[in-house]
Amino acid sequence: MKYCKSCLTTNLRPNSSFNKKNICIACEYSSQIFSFSSSTHLARLKEKIRELNKRARLKLNNYDCIVGVSGGKDSTRQALWVRDRLKMNPLLVCCAYPPYQMSDIGANNIENLINAGFDVIFDTPSPQTSRDLSKRSFIKFGNVCKASEMALFASVPRIAIDFDVKLIFWGENPALQVGDSETGGSDPLDGNNLRNLNTLVDGGDEWMDEVFQSPYKKKHYQYPSVNEFKKRNINIIYLGPAWDDWSNDMNSTFASLHGLTLRPNEEKITGDISNASMIDEEFTNINMMIKYFKYGFGRATDLVNEAIRNKEISRQDAIGIVEKYDGVCDDSIIKSYCNYINIAESEFWKYTNYWVNESIFRKTNKRPVPKFKVGVNFYD
Ligand SMILES: [Zn+2]
Repeated sequence: MKYCKSCLTTNLRPNSSFNKKNICIACEYSSQIFSFSSSTHLARLKEKIRELNKRARLKLNNYDCIVGVSGGKDSTRQALWVRDRLKMNPLLVCCAYPPYQMSDIGANNIENLINAGFDVIFDTPSPQTSRDLSKRSFIKFGNVCKASEMALFASVPRIAIDFDVKLIFWGENPALQVGDSETGGSDPLDGNNLRNLNTLVDGGDEWMDEVFQSPYKKKHYQYPSVNEFKKRNINIIYLGPAWDDWSNDMNSTFASLHGLTLRPNEEKITGDISNASMIDEEFTNINMMIKYFKYGFGRATDLVNEAIRNKEISRQDAIGIVEKYDGVCDDSIIKSYCNYINIAESEFWKYTNYWVNESIFRKTNKRPVPKFKVGVNFYD
């Protein structure tokens, strides 16, 4: 396992890419971005919207764009920014799983957006199917949220098609933010390759077929094809690169000043040092833990990496935080997931241990123990 020389990303990250100097794609990009002023990016964004408007009139009906929202910090800030800074009229799309998989905080945060004057369309896949899919993807892929992520990403373009909206804004550019190189486009704002995100394409979707009683239910989980995008002139733009201050911290500060509820002081339970990621959904914390067992990095790594790139923390100080919080996910969350998919906790650890990367972890009956030291290249 090799680490980026500048941050704490490892080469085990799916679709990771390191240059000859062993710098990851996200660090490479962020060192370039500081040479542009934020107004350059904003000007490019506005130019892009003007071009799209010329090619295909964006405002055919009430809405000229769509913003996907989850009840989290990024989407709250995006919705407000698109409306108040770009002066556009977004339709908000929220893919949610009430009652089992939606926290009260998530529901309050969506209500906060509705109260702020936005129209929100909910896409709600059947809860029973979604539960069956979660269990299946946990066993088959070591990923408890694979299906719900597929539904979340697919819901936005599917509803764009239904409402004849041609422009979709997405927040984070995963190529630049976390280093998933397949999702980058012709420029930092181009989001049309979002469909290549590892979690959406890895493993295909045939594994779902046995769960669906009626074939149309699968549509919730299927990303519209490239041809459908072309035929309907749909484009995705990443907003993150156009903001000089796009960061987890700034987004949660901004959003909480606009009514977003956070989850303070829960980092020892969720492993989330920002107290602001995934506040709408609990089981994602399990995925973050399993991700750590598979690839040697978890959510704390992603958060400190951003802070390292923004020069808010040194790589050395970040190591201490990652050692403490990567892989943290309290037994109470695991217990509640076991109840949700109806398995014993011992079974949970049996399935989880199947996904543990034994070249970097030593297996036990329960939580595996790392053999590596954070930030130091490790060869088994
Ligand atoms: Zn890096």
